[in-house]
Amino acid sequence: MRNDMKALVKTKPEPGLWMEHRAVPEIGPDDVLIRIRKTGICGTDIHIWNWDDWAARTVPLGLVTGHEFAGEIVEIGRNVDGLTIGQRCSGEGHLIGKQSRQSRAGKFHLDPATRGIGVNEQGAFAEYLKLPAFNVVPLPDEIDDEIGAILDPLGNAVHTALSFDLVGEDVLITGAGPIGIMAAAVARHVGARHIVITDVNQDRLDLAAQVTDVVPVNVAKQDLRDVEGVLKMKEGFDVGMEMSGNQAALDQMVENMVMGGRIAMLGIPPGKSPVDWSRIVFKAITIKGVYGREIFETWYKMIAMLENGLDIRKVITHRFPVDEFREGFEIMRSGKSGKVVLDWT
Ligand code: NAD
Ligand code: ZN
Repeated sequence: MRNDMKALVKTKPEPGLWMEHRAVPEIGPDDVLIRIRKTGICGTDIHIWNWDDWAARTVPLGLVTGHEFAGEIVEIGRNVDGLTIGQRCSGEGHLIGKQSRQSRAGKFHLDPATRGIGVNEQGAFAEYLKLPAFNVVPLPDEIDDEIGAILDPLGNAVHTALSFDLVGEDVLITGAGPIGIMAAAVARHVGARHIVITDVNQDRLDLAAQVTDVVPVNVAKQDLRDVEGVLKMKEGFDVGMEMSGNQAALDQMVENMVMGGRIAMLGIPPGKSPVDWSRIVFKAITIKGVYGREIFETWYKMIAMLENGLDIRKVITHRFPVDEFREGFEIMRSGKSGKVVLDWT
């Protein structure tokens, strides 16, 4: 085993990431070592690249970044059962505590002591990743490495989309970023009726229409009510998924929901945002905040759906060898991409 590896590190408190040489992590008795093959660039990584206020507050300098990955197990801690050397895998990037009420109830995704790889702990943008065996998710042969590398954001999409019953429902998704687009594909897969996705970025709306059967609406140019009219919708959307983090999008969603509508909110507003609570009350709207993925129920569901025809491959628009990571980050930062995947092999 080599003891030196390449890793993308947040070395300096300024925009950028730097390729460095690091020691290969030493695993403990409950961990595995994963040889990384493919990684996805996430919006979170862009925040870290840009070194915005959130990143400066949250991320320690010297951190190996990245949390979306697929690879192969190359070493196994002595307490680990049920995993094998050579096993292909992805994994949950949230490292959870096991003491809290929610964790002890088996709701691991609600543990308040959670720490994220590539945010608080050493991450996956490296040739090797140390991960607790508990977090490993083996990949079936049908799921290749590049899809394996985007299961983390697909998990956000699946967790959000499966928050409410979608069968036969009219669904509004605000924000056609990679996660919004994948949520639309999931809604289509599980049997929603009309799925309308909004954005102000036409490239992303065009991509949404290539990935799945949705009605893309550019809200900078088109009136959402007109679209509802064309679709012969009478009372508004049954289910909303907020996936932009934009205040105007949330307001528009609330206005366009049916009485008693249900909203799952994944998008993260930049700060405190004003909400017209009287609209929520008088429309009897339910709002659910969505964080991460259910560990491991969301993983189970998404793998099952991928094995059963859910196709999200076209959401990957760019692929680069890792030495060209700057190009990958540049295209992500431009907003002119879907998912960008880096190859570490
Ligand atoms: P993204 O930034 O790539 O996509 C957001 C999209 O919203 C962009 O295409 C943008 O043009 C669009 N948008 C901006 N204004 C809009 C408006 N008025 N109406 C409609 N769309 C508008 O983000 P992503 O990676 O797809 O993630 C989606 C959201 O989910 C982000 O806010 C992200 O921070 C958040 N997120 C939350 C979690 C969680 O655990 N809660 C996890 C991952 C991501
Ligand atoms: Zn991510």
